[in-house]
Amino acid sequence: MSVFSLIHRKLYNLTHPELGQILMLHRVTEHRSRLLANRELEVTPGFLEQTILHYKENGYRFVDMDEVVRVVKGGKQKQKFVCFTFDDGYADNYTLAFPIFKKYNCPFTVNITTDFYERKALLWWYVLEDLGVTDVEFIHLRERFFKMDSSTIEKYLIDGYPNAQTHIAERRNNMVLSEPQILELANSGLCTIGCHTMSHPRLSNLRKEDQYEEIAISKQKLEALIGKEVKHFAFPYGDFNGDTQTVLMETGFESAVRTWGGKVRRGMEPMNLCRKELKQ
Ligand SMILES: [Zn+2]
Repeated sequence: MSVFSLIHRKLYNLTHPELGQILMLHRVTEHRSRLLANRELEVTPGFLEQTILHYKENGYRFVDMDEVVRVVKGGKQKQKFVCFTFDDGYADNYTLAFPIFKKYNCPFTVNITTDFYERKALLWWYVLEDLGVTDVEFIHLRERFFKMDSSTIEKYLIDGYPNAQTHIAERRNNMVLSEPQILELANSGLCTIGCHTMSHPRLSNLRKEDQYEEIAISKQKLEALIGKEVKHFAFPYGDFNGDTQTVLMETGFESAVRTWGGKVRRGMEPMNLCRKELKQ
């Protein structure tokens, strides 16, 4: 970063005070992955608990996304907020994270990709872990996979590795939240269900009508499942364009969060909120 942009950022931060932080997580697990890229998606239950205590000791209040929106729109608050969010819809959000949030009566949000609980998602990043690829091989394959669609990746794995099909089925069926788990989370009074599209695409690569389909249908599916309005959205990969913002307005969302950007500051737009990745 140049000296000029460093000064610019310092000035921005001075004139735009911190309102709070939206933390981004994916998984909670006792046994973190061998592959670095997967390990970065994971924290242990102990680390999650320490994080809650850290924010509590530092005077933050635990809030849900509705409260984040109220404050961002200019609502008063006495203490800064912290809001825990999980993306994608992994089963451990229910089995391991939920009991911890209950213990501290701490609200949290799970932003769900509907292909996950519909058992359609190809969790190739964990399948590659099962197939024993190295970190270097993983990075090469990931670059290639980002340019392929899901069925091409699946074919590539099945053709290239004898045990791929078993691992694909295993990950697809056992690693994601089930419909009853999502329903229980939604009715717990602690968990907000947010929307994270159907198939987790890079939205800026899609035409507006395809973005509309990804966003509107996933919202409808989630609302039909939980019987409540779904008002909060998370951009897959933090990626979006002007059309995405228009579609979110048209489909009745009240907030959208990125995967990056750090603290939430005065003056930010509810449809383009920064998050801070929680890293262990
Ligand atoms: Zn995601």
